[in-house]
Amino acid sequence: MPMSAGCRHEDGAHPGLKGPALLRALGAAERRCAERDERLTDPRRRVLQLLLVADAPLKAYDLIGAYGSGGAPAKPPTVYRALDFLERLGFAHRIESLNAYVACRLEAPGHRAAFLICNCCGATEEFEPDFAREIAAAESAGYAVSSLTLEARGLCPACRA
Ligand SMILES: [Zn+2]
Ligand SMILES: [Zn+2]
Ligand SMILES: [Zn+2]
Repeated sequence: MPMSAGCRHEDGAHPGLKGPALLRALGAAERRCAERDERLTDPRRRVLQLLLVADAPLKAYDLIGAYGSGGAPAKPPTVYRALDFLERLGFAHRIESLNAYVACRLEAPGHRAAFLICNCCGATEEFEPDFAREIAAAESAGYAVSSLTLEARGLCPACRA
């Protein structure tokens, strides 16, 4: 991963998914799409898979470059459209300060996402912020909250050790 290049610490707490865990996550995404009358088309599925297997957030150009199995890059709009879809359905989140994307690991549709980001290895951990309820209350009072960013930077346990 690009961001872990300088880090010689142990792997972060949330390495990318592999094997059965990856298949389970993709299967869950298929089901959530079906429930919402949406389709996990090939490009959407491919971009989600790349995010799920990654150990750290990926930038759009990482996704474009890694898209084709034979090393052929994707057309950028294909990846951007897939990212829009994945964000809208809550399968992925954009980390503003990195301008990069991660797969959602909380499997709770419609939540607000906040992140702990390791400055050393680039590992990110998602959590649901405590004030998510206040935001929901504000929305039911008529506010239209279009974005919310909470990104806490520091060192993960592996890099602090
Ligand atoms: Zn999430
Ligand atoms: Zn770290
Ligand atoms: Zn480190």
